[in-house]
Amino acid sequence: MMSKTEETTATQKKDEALVWHAMKPYNPNNTLIAQQAKGVWVTDEEGNRYLDAMSGLWCVNIGYGREELAEAAFEQMKKLAYFPLTHSHTPAIELAEKLNEMLGGEYVFFYSNSGSEANEVAFKIARQYHQQKGETNRSKIISRYRSYHGNTLGALAATGQAQRKYKYEPFASGFLHVPPPDSYRSPVDSSKVGREREEVKAIEQMMVWELEETVAAVIMEPIITGGGILMPPEDYLQSVHDVCREKGALLIVDEVICGFGRTGEPFGFMHYGVKPDIITMAKGITSAYLPLSVTAVKKEIYDAFKGTEEYEYFRHVNTFGGNPAACAVALKNLEIMKKEGLFTRAKVVGETMLEMLNMKLAEHPKVGDIRGKGLLIGIELVEDKETKQPIDVQVVNKIIGRCKEKGVIIGKNGATVAGYNNVLTIAPPLIINDEEMSVVTQALTDSIQDILA
Ligand code: PMP
Repeated sequence: MMSKTEETTATQKKDEALVWHAMKPYNPNNTLIAQQAKGVWVTDEEGNRYLDAMSGLWCVNIGYGREELAEAAFEQMKKLAYFPLTHSHTPAIELAEKLNEMLGGEYVFFYSNSGSEANEVAFKIARQYHQQKGETNRSKIISRYRSYHGNTLGALAATGQAQRKYKYEPFASGFLHVPPPDSYRSPVDSSKVGREREEVKAIEQMMVWELEETVAAVIMEPIITGGGILMPPEDYLQSVHDVCREKGALLIVDEVICGFGRTGEPFGFMHYGVKPDIITMAKGITSAYLPLSVTAVKKEIYDAFKGTEEYEYFRHVNTFGGNPAACAVALKNLEIMKKEGLFTRAKVVGETMLEMLNMKLAEHPKVGDIRGKGLLIGIELVEDKETKQPIDVQVVNKIIGRCKEKGVIIGKNGATVAGYNNVLTIAPPLIINDEEMSVVTQALTDSIQDILA
């Protein structure tokens, strides 16, 4: 991969010496040092412009450079910059009220700072909830292979991507994994629906063999994102919820990426007719202007913690969670999303984009599958459409590099360990317009044609 300017700049050198980046190896010459951004466009220190078709890390949902959000933070910081949620403050209460309205009532909200923390909180609440109810053996958490739930040791234990995990073991115990549905690699067997589906039965079987009274919760994203945009059958989530209810386990839905319009609904689970027991949110809640995450918990779970004894409290305090400015920014962000109709917009624009990509790329011999919902789209690349052998990751990297040379940032997802790191990912800000969408599809199509000629 080459940057537009070939020479490593002084800032890039300083960056390499001092800033530890998430992904190594990386080429300092290729590091995009962002200076400013507006809408879907990011400008680097040399004045090169890039269309960010990944919304940062799938999070800048309303796009960059919204002054209203900066003003909301500024005004709130002047008024009340900080106060701990061992007490309370108005922005936290108002945001909870707003989120509850979006969820149709029945929830209580616990604030943290990142998606990982929101999931840690969900696990701790699920475990303690069963303790409060006297079901003291319920501690196991079931999640799925290929899922990603965060970088902390509990959230990583729940994660089902071995490549991100094996160097950091041992983890918290009690996390188990089942295979997820994968519409491309294991097409839906239409003779088996609902609880008869293999992937649902896998969960039920696991509960049986593990002893159902030891299972605290099941966690899943509505659509697996980081693991390669894996689309579930329409009745999958509902069936999993039925199993959970029958076996007394809680259903935690991770909306860290799918939430706040990404899939064309306010929350991803809303496509699938369930009302989860616990919902975790982050990223799009503030469009990433400030760090904030939320664990939404059904009121009846919260009520089980309402004892008078100290040991009945939820023993989880964090200093920064629910920072007033972050809550004020989230409120303004949600107001803008509503005013601009961004959830519906993501649905409509996403459908057009999927259509355009299909028109341009579906016939390509190395494009195995194009799939997604809303502005969450994956293109799975294969060596051969018959065998579906995943294309080499170096080739995927070259396509991403070529897109970047053309001024478009796209992502790559899947599972490195099994060689499935072969899904190009597109998740632009929900405000992307038709012209910008064409820029993305054109860059993608040209890059795929160039590299896979
Ligand atoms: N859950 C999912 C589905 C995610 O994609 C991520 C982050 N990409 C997380 C949790 C963790 O969020 P964070 O990076 O804010 O800790």
